[in-house]
Amino acid sequence: MSQIDGLPPLRDVIATYDLRAKKSLGQNFLLDLNLTAKIARQAGDLSGSDVLEVGPGPGGLTRGLLAEGARKVLAVEKDTRCLPVLAEIEAAYPGRLEVVNGDALEINPLDHLTPPIRVVANLPYNVGTELLIRWLTPKAWPPVWDSLTLMFQREVAERIVATPGSKAYGRLALLCQWRADARIVMELAPEAFVPAPKVRSAVVHITALPEPRYPADPKLLEQVVAKAFNQRRKMLRAALKGLVPDTEDMLLEAGLTPTDRAETISLEGFCALARALEARRG
Ligand code: SAM
Repeated sequence: MSQIDGLPPLRDVIATYDLRAKKSLGQNFLLDLNLTAKIARQAGDLSGSDVLEVGPGPGGLTRGLLAEGARKVLAVEKDTRCLPVLAEIEAAYPGRLEVVNGDALEINPLDHLTPPIRVVANLPYNVGTELLIRWLTPKAWPPVWDSLTLMFQREVAERIVATPGSKAYGRLALLCQWRADARIVMELAPEAFVPAPKVRSAVVHITALPEPRYPADPKLLEQVVAKAFNQRRKMLRAALKGLVPDTEDMLLEAGLTPTDRAETISLEGFCALARALEARRG
């Protein structure tokens, strides 16, 4: 029996169900239940929230979330091999765990959960960034989630919290920081996982703001940011060429210097640029 619940230790679970990690599903499992409970705590008091967990795998983080008092957990897992072990956890926490066998990219959490909703996951690296972008770019804001507590490769976590002038600064930082607060709350060495990945990992905690920091149309902001960073070493007047006939005037109107490069422009500057683009597009 483990320390956080009456269920078997994860090493035994993996052996019993022969859950050898599959690279194609981005599987790197956390087997230390004290560590998974600590990750669950980074999401704050869960007693008044439903939780979406993507990729429960053998259920280490799921057990952490339930032991830490989550009102309900929806665990979406693609790998059918994990279903019997997740059913055991479901039985140990009656009415508090719902397991869906499917692709997290195709699930609408509102079909299963009641707000407030927190997302907590040790994400599969192959769909992690795509899921984050989707959570950050819904049509309506505030989004369905209150917070995201997510494990990423450290390099991705650094891109989320990056500030202007740093190498990691770009699309992810701007999309995230426009409408949310983000910080790195934990770092993990490769040995925390089975199998151990090549790189370090980090947990990022992201809280949705009630409204964006600066006004801008989401689609136009995404467009200028994508184009500006597509050629991040070029001056803005060259990188944004073709977007509108008068690129230099648009940059000046936004209060920017046409010879500046994308990596030096603040979030406020990019929002001004999106508004200047909107004025031209009508
Ligand atoms: N939460 C477990 C842990 O911390 O030990 C497993 C984390 S592992 C990094 C990622 C999990 O996501 C795996 O169980 C994998 O099968 C699952 N997965 C991969 N792609 C998925 C997808 N598109 N939708 C849902 N689950 C997925």
